[in-house]
Amino acid sequence: MKDLTARFGFLGALSPSVTLALAARAKEMKKQGKDVVSMSVGEPDFDTPRAIKDACIKALNEGKVGYVASSGLPELKEKIVQKFKANGIETSAENIVVSTGAKFALFEAITALCTESDEVVVFAPYWLSYVEMIKASGATVKVVETFLKDGFEPTKEALERAIGENTKLIIVNSPNNPTGAVYSKKTLEMIADVAVSKNIMVLSDEIYEKLIYDSSKPHISIASLNKKIADLTMTVNGFSKAYAMTGWRLGYVNAPLWLLRRISSLQSHATSNATTFVQYAGIAALEGRAGDDVLKMIETFANRRKLICRLLSEIKQIDFCVPSGAFYVLCDVSKTALSADEFAARLLEEKLVVVTPCASFGAPRCIRLSYACDEKAIKTALLRIKQFCEGLNNNEHR
Ligand code: PLP
Repeated sequence: MKDLTARFGFLGALSPSVTLALAARAKEMKKQGKDVVSMSVGEPDFDTPRAIKDACIKALNEGKVGYVASSGLPELKEKIVQKFKANGIETSAENIVVSTGAKFALFEAITALCTESDEVVVFAPYWLSYVEMIKASGATVKVVETFLKDGFEPTKEALERAIGENTKLIIVNSPNNPTGAVYSKKTLEMIADVAVSKNIMVLSDEIYEKLIYDSSKPHISIASLNKKIADLTMTVNGFSKAYAMTGWRLGYVNAPLWLLRRISSLQSHATSNATTFVQYAGIAALEGRAGDDVLKMIETFANRRKLICRLLSEIKQIDFCVPSGAFYVLCDVSKTALSADEFAARLLEEKLVVVTPCASFGAPRCIRLSYACDEKAIKTALLRIKQFCEGLNNNEHR
């Protein structure tokens, strides 16, 4: 059997998504009547803004239910071009593919570029799906560690050490899942300089762009830095996190034409166009028709971030750095002497709190807390985590 999996493609090496499995488990326990508090959720706990839903309903009522151009509605692509312009990225509609979620855009970008014998650099802690997508392309993952003491931003030395003659791609994710780090201009310039000097492509995943809470750390698109890096960069973004549209499955990628053609061909054979009437909702979102709702969401996340960081700072056994973006706090639990997996499993069993252990995010000593849940849940969960940690210490001293 082993021989057969080795013979037939790379997909045998793939692992299922741990985050989705955890969310399912939490739901199951809640159904059994248990008072489970979940801090593992990777999606905003808000409804999609009314104006966006209305645009979709209108499109449906007008019969916008057939196939459209595989790469996306021209009107939506035009809005996306304007959106990228606002980020300082010069592009045009022919450089854009609209896809069923940012996740699929990332998958297409990696698949279009990489193959066996190629190497792809990812910064750990990383979003776990990158690694699986790279494996699916047949390429090899090269991990560059980042550290809490540096705010989880990479250093030039570490990046250069990871690069070899087969390196084809560097994946950048700022604001970052799971660390919440927003890379400084200096860090992005460093990555851009390395990529340009070695002629390596960059895939920039900017899905959390709107969720930023620290005015000293604005979002910067790496492709906006200069023309040379723009020519090497694929930028992915989407609607899931900024507009509470996870279930709508809508994302997009901007890429140099030679690569965009590959992505476009791949999509035309894989999914055809992203759902037609959903694309009309995307137009409404990018036109800013839900601007006030988005601002309210960001403000709510900002308040929760303050709360969770204050409560975490009262737990001696947990180290963390204040996240600048997204809706996660990465917590180092090394001081408890438990691995992240053990910590998460025991916390669920003993205190009914679901957190995400981050071994599959390249951070085996860390758990990720998501604050895409209300303040009451945050307070309850953090109190239980504190009691859990104190219980560990008491047991040790007995
Ligand atoms: N990129 C990152 C870093 C994410 O965390 C996620 C979702 O959790 C995605 C991409 C996928 O976004 P979408 O829902 O648009 O596929």
